[in-house]
Amino acid sequence: MTLRDDGAAALEWAADYLERVRDLPVLAQVEPGEIRARLPATPPEQGEPFAAVLADLEHKLLDGVTHWQSPRYFAYFANTGSEPGILAELLAATLNQVGILWRTSPVLQELEELACDWLRQLLGLPGTFVGHIEDSASTATLAALGAARAAAPGRRAVYTSEHAHSSVAKAARILELELRPVEVDDAYRLRPELLELADACAVVATIGTTSSAAIDPVPAIGDACEAAGAWLHVDAAYAGPAALCEELRPLFAGWKGADSIVVNPHKWLATPMDCSVLWTSRVDAFREAYSFVPEYLRASEDVVNLSELSVPLGRRFRALKLWAVLRCFGADGLRAMIREHVRLAGEFAGWVEGEPGWALCAPRHFSLVCFRRDGSDEDNEALLDRVNSSGEVFLSHARLDDRFVLRLAIGNAGTTEEDVRLAWDVLRREAA
Ligand code: PLP
Repeated sequence: MTLRDDGAAALEWAADYLERVRDLPVLAQVEPGEIRARLPATPPEQGEPFAAVLADLEHKLLDGVTHWQSPRYFAYFANTGSEPGILAELLAATLNQVGILWRTSPVLQELEELACDWLRQLLGLPGTFVGHIEDSASTATLAALGAARAAAPGRRAVYTSEHAHSSVAKAARILELELRPVEVDDAYRLRPELLELADACAVVATIGTTSSAAIDPVPAIGDACEAAGAWLHVDAAYAGPAALCEELRPLFAGWKGADSIVVNPHKWLATPMDCSVLWTSRVDAFREAYSFVPEYLRASEDVVNLSELSVPLGRRFRALKLWAVLRCFGADGLRAMIREHVRLAGEFAGWVEGEPGWALCAPRHFSLVCFRRDGSDEDNEALLDRVNSSGEVFLSHARLDDRFVLRLAIGNAGTTEEDVRLAWDVLRREAA
């Protein structure tokens, strides 16, 4: 095995894949168990050439790939593993850094701090926020609520909107906190007048909910938290990158007052899975909750190791890809991508609105459109199934006001107006 030869072949495969991905069926068209059945049930005794791995990827595994890299991927929250991110992942694996202490990888720690700080500046957050990278928003929210719990002993309630991501409920369950879902208004925003925070350790507000990208009233929630001494965690996992654009920044009103904020570059910032940035203005509370330094990890440097701010001890070099993305796109490039996605979502919403028999189902702020076809939930669900099994595009759904609605989420850097138009044509074709 030589890295040069096999590496050249792997890179060639990767480049070729990205060139043809638009035309592959977006949702994997396989049955459960089908991919596994194609592979030997037992591992090889003798090593095989890497070329065999690459051949199986092409001929046996590719059918089982749902193509998140497709410009025609519109489900959940679409994303992009962009070129700088892909190459940085290769280099990060090559360097194989294990960040347990500053000294085990000074570059990992310092680049992580720098990249998070660059992104903080781009989003217009104050310098009081200190960031680090987690694997996912779920972990980030768990970490934030763990810090909030430690900061308010005896207070066990967590308030969040009934439309908050399930990761909030999961974190509450793990931390043995009592989750109190709060009703939303007619725009799917948490109703702050329903907060009763006397025994609350935290409120999780969302800017860009998963179901409809609704925006909770963060300023009012922040005031309530401040008055009650409760921690405010803002989940902007999907929508956060939109704060790069000055004209969208008003949608983030109040988030500067948060105790912690999570934004996922692996959702809408061209960064390959996984990369979730968690900032806090209360770094001491995180340290209080997570700093354990056993004897074998004691070192002479006067540095707060990133492992003292989060659950894992060892961390991988995720910062390299975030830094590469920020450098290679530049703020302007990222803003252009986000603006184009917001524009395309507006176009799509216009087509839906202008077509009899179709209706928009939620206010639109970012790059997500919620809509449905006249008819029953079952009709809409069957329509979505037909659209997705065509393989031409992939959309997902949500439940709003107890109705099944379709979601078109734009987030792939390669998506063009033609791709969005194709989604609309396929929807109309299958509805007919
Ligand atoms: N928060 C919001 C608003 C989300 O939409 C999602 C996932 O879609 C999450 C959190 C969880 O993200 P992750 O997969 O990074 O845990």
